Formats: sequence, structure tokens, C-alpha cells
Amino acid sequence: MKRIGILGGTFDPPHMGHLIIAEEVRLALDLEEVWFIPSYTPPHKSNVKTKPEHRLKMIRLAIQGNPYFKVDTIELERTGKSYTIDTIKELRKRHSDKKFYFIIGGDMVEYLPNWYQIEELKNLVTFVGVKRSNYSTESAFPIYIVDIPLIEISSTVLRKRCIEGTSVQYWLPHSVHQYIKEHHLYGH
Ligand code: ATP
Repeated sequence: MKRIGILGGTFDPPHMGHLIIAEEVRLALDLEEVWFIPSYTPPHKSNVKTKPEHRLKMIRLAIQGNPYFKVDTIELERTGKSYTIDTIKELRKRHSDKKFYFIIGGDMVEYLPNWYQIEELKNLVTFVGVKRSNYSTESAFPIYIVDIPLIEISSTVLRKRCIEGTSVQYWLPHSVHQYIKEHHLYGH
């Protein structure tokens, strides 16, 4: 079975944290590819203002040059609330020759027991957790932990710094930074 990592997220915007965790987990678990799946409407966030088209374009720019990284627009096409259970069921249907590893940061690990239909979901996918500052990776759920260097970058702080006019150089790929400026995202 081919082993595929999934990194679901809002990617508002994508940053070095996303790229580093995807690459570290790929290496640690010997994954064939990592698929980035932007959510249309994340179930746990009500205030995503950046259009899906922008978030998708920024991911495409961010992963450019890494042959192991792909984007899957499955949740953007489905629209509505992006429940992981629906995505995983559909992915398993479309790719029966693949085994999926769902990568989550520490903030998501804590929240995992509350995920929609988690009891069923945990049998369909292997969760892989990576640490994030201020969160624990301990979980009552079977979850595989990959040890990575702690990266204190979040999209929230990145957006805030853009709005304040503080530099975000090196927080994200140059191409994504250029895109943000060209399209006047986050107060630029
Ligand atoms: P926001 O600050 O807007 O909530 P975010 O930086 O958490 O955004 P998401 O797109 O929501 O980014 O994250 C997608 C996935 O990547 C989540 O599982 C999240 O936990 C994980 N992640 C994001 N940044 C990091 C990081 N710096 N270290 C570890 N995991 C991360």
C-alpha cells in the first residue's frame, strides 16, 4: 500500500511551519507523498475571511519545487463545512491502493476527541501528531507522534504582523509573501 500523508488546514496563509512538519513527517514515516488539503469552511473556525481561491493559490506557490508535495482540492469542491470524515471516506474510495496518515499539530491533538464522528474516523486513518508550543501531544486516542523541532509560527500571528506592518520575512516562502502583497491580503 502506498503511504500518503494528509495535511489539512485553513492555510490562511501557508507558512514554514506547515512545510517543515509535512517534510519531517514524510521523512520519519517514509511517505510517498504529502497532500495539502485546504478546507472550504473549517468546522472549528468561524472567521476565515480569506477567499478559498487565494488560500489555494498560496499553497500552490508554497509547495512549488517539492516533488513530494501535492494539493488536493477535494474540500474546496465539496464546499460547505469541511468535515475530515467526509474527506477521508471519499479519498479511500478514490484511492483504494493507498493508506492515509493525517498530520496534525498539538493544538489539534488536544481537540481531537471532539472531532465530528471521531470514533469512526479513527478507524479509517492513522493520526500523526507533531508538537506545538503551549499544547500537549498526549492523547487518549491512538496517535503516532513524530518528533520535530518546535516551530513557533502560526497563521494568526503572521496575519497580525502583516496588519501591524511588522516584517514576516522568512516566516513563509518568498513567493507567498509576494502574493500577499500583490493581492493586498491582511492589510497589505
Ligand atoms: P491559525 O493560526 O489561523 O489557526 P495555523 O497556523 O494553525 O492557523 P492551519 O492552516 O490551521 O494553520 O494548520 C494546519 C495544520 O498544521 C494543523 O493541524 C496545525 O496544528 C498544524 N500546524 C500549523 N502550524 C504549525 C506549527 N508551527 N507547528 C506544528 N503544527 C502546525
